[in-house]
Amino acid sequence: MSYTQRVAEELKARYADQPEFVQAATEVLDSIEPALAAHPEYEAAGLLERLVEPERIVMFRVPWVDDKGQVQVNRGYRVEYNSAIGPYKGGLRFHPSVNLGILKFLGFEQIFKNSLTGLPMGGGKGGSDFDPKGKSDREVMAFCQSFMTELQRYIGPDTDVPAGDIGVGGREIGYMFGQYKRIRDEFTGVLTGKGLSFGGSLCRTQATGYGLVYFVATLLEDHKDSLEGKTVVVSGAGNVAIYAIEKAQQLGAKAVTCSDSTGWIYDPEGIDVALLKEVKEGKRARLTAYAEARPSAQYHEGRGVWSVPCDVALPCATQNELFLDDAKALVENGCKVVAEGANMPTTRDATEYLIDKKVAFCPGKAANAGGVAVSGLEMSQNSERLSWTFDEVDARLKTIMENIYTAVSSAASSAGFEGNLVVGANLAGFAKVAEAMYAQGIV
Ligand code: GLU
Repeated sequence: MSYTQRVAEELKARYADQPEFVQAATEVLDSIEPALAAHPEYEAAGLLERLVEPERIVMFRVPWVDDKGQVQVNRGYRVEYNSAIGPYKGGLRFHPSVNLGILKFLGFEQIFKNSLTGLPMGGGKGGSDFDPKGKSDREVMAFCQSFMTELQRYIGPDTDVPAGDIGVGGREIGYMFGQYKRIRDEFTGVLTGKGLSFGGSLCRTQATGYGLVYFVATLLEDHKDSLEGKTVVVSGAGNVAIYAIEKAQQLGAKAVTCSDSTGWIYDPEGIDVALLKEVKEGKRARLTAYAEARPSAQYHEGRGVWSVPCDVALPCATQNELFLDDAKALVENGCKVVAEGANMPTTRDATEYLIDKKVAFCPGKAANAGGVAVSGLEMSQNSERLSWTFDEVDARLKTIMENIYTAVSSAASSAGFEGNLVVGANLAGFAKVAEAMYAQGIV
């Protein structure tokens, strides 16, 4: 059994109760065999056994009082996974499905994603099983303040810099930043995704969605093609989906779907982005409100966006939302590109099917790295106490996404896996982290 296989087997046995983590970690381990063959010294240094274990995990109680005066208790977490190439960096997710296994999968992915950006950021992730949906602003504030009262002990602008993820946007980051500043009495770039009036970066809100589409555009260009006239199918209706739709349409494609936790929209005339923003960002309403306001839109209960014929599919909702049957339907309907805006939205068997059928499959750790990349640019701006223009940040984002595509596709080719961007992303992301870990000794 090879070194990577042995570590994968140990993980499966030890963490059988963390299926998403095992899924994410074994996919990486299965791809990086060529890197381990080229560096036998890594095995002697126990590098993989160290890589798969977080440097530190903090878990804490988050008590808060709801609008009825009742005490509520949630669980809070921060997984500080790997700091070999920079301070821990990664989002906070507030969603009822959050548990340690989910955050370990997200934190592990983040290590390689952050490495691919070319910026000096380690990997981390955190969050809570708190559900912001249906809560008043005061309840969200009370929760965020209590969460930060504990989290502030472990983070700092040169130690660990959280940001948003599902359920954590500008409102939540603002409340958490205010509480951090109050307790620590310092105004620093400890969080990214901040409001523009207190150190946030222009283009951070758009970054993940725009970056995803820049990645796809670069891939198409490499195949002498473009987004012009393409039909794009998108899942999700959060900021990744919204800004992926916006950028795809700016580049001449027609995005015809989006979805939320209760249903999905098919709008053959193309999604009206201004209306979608009003429904989701403004009113925090359901997609039924979009359908009510737009005659061309059809609303369907449940899931189903992958049944719509398209050239490009962009899963931008959450993990494990695109299954083998969905992959078969996409291929059957002529889909040529699947690019992950969410983290691990495609199951392993669906991923393998798409790659086997020669669909250009762009894994999230490469394709959705634009969000954390602009977080890295926000950290730079905070450190130099300057703010850059929208166009400057957007131009840097585009260059970063182009560089990631080039790094990933050439890593795949050099390893003999031409066009396999999963293998390419894992190899390219691993190389820098492994070199840094090895150089720093057994820590
Ligand atoms: N949550 C985002 C991600 O999955 C962004 C993290 C960040 O900006 O730190 O990459």
